Amino acid sequence: MRTALLVTACLLAASATASAAPTREELDTRAGELRKQLEGKGFTVVVEGSFVIVGDESPRKVQSRVNFVDWVVKLIEKDYFDKQPEKILVIWLFRNINTYKAGAKKFFDDEPTTPYGYYSSDDNALIMNIGPGAGTLSHELVHPYIEANFPDAPSWFNEGLASLYEQPREREGHMWGTTNWRLPGLTSMIRDKSIPPLKELLTTTREGFYDASFDAYAYARFLCQYLQDHGKLREFYKAFVVDKDHTGVKSLEKILGQRLEEFQPVFNKWALSLRR
Ligand SMILES: [Zn+2]
Repeated sequence: MRTALLVTACLLAASATASAAPTREELDTRAGELRKQLEGKGFTVVVEGSFVIVGDESPRKVQSRVNFVDWVVKLIEKDYFDKQPEKILVIWLFRNINTYKAGAKKFFDDEPTTPYGYYSSDDNALIMNIGPGAGTLSHELVHPYIEANFPDAPSWFNEGLASLYEQPREREGHMWGTTNWRLPGLTSMIRDKSIPPLKELLTTTREGFYDASFDAYAYARFLCQYLQDHGKLREFYKAFVVDKDHTGVKSLEKILGQRLEEFQPVFNKWALSLRR
């Protein structure tokens, strides 16, 4: 009896989670609409997990992107996210900067400010130039998951975690972000002593982050990498997501066992020791 009750409770929990994410039928319907809209224009449309993926590369290449999405999503869901995005998201993969810009204009009336890609929550779409590589795709995939699971996340963590996975590997069944092209952005700030204190990064507003006079992406990314490399990132996330302090200062100091002022030189030294 007790076992039966437990099974029922688990089934209820599972169906509650599943009902929030789009159903396969809804995804197929959306994919059908897109196939019709894009017929004869050189696009491939595929449903993968809770996403619809649209690409203007060869069907074979689009399929390899689909496999990449599947791999990323499985790993980040396992480590961080209980909930899938609750709406149908379409991932638009354009093969180069020209088709990306033209597609963003044509389908979304957007003029992208970034050459790589972006997540538009309003349009339920991830729109990207996949030409330079899949790093943008793994970055952008993190955003709708943060939105669904940690809506109060500050920009530094949203972008820090997304940027951590721009050069992803799998290590012992977990996603692992390796040191990437953003490193010089961080080390040059440390070397010329223009790096603001960690507390300033953590307490920055959304506008403050995106318009920062320092390389906020690099700083946030490597803070996440420090936690990852020291086996503390998932533990930090789990504490942070339920913490009322949405800057992360308290959770971070607790996980580190140090005040931020004490940790700063440790972090700077570690960052200067990294090699790409
Ligand atoms: Zn981002």
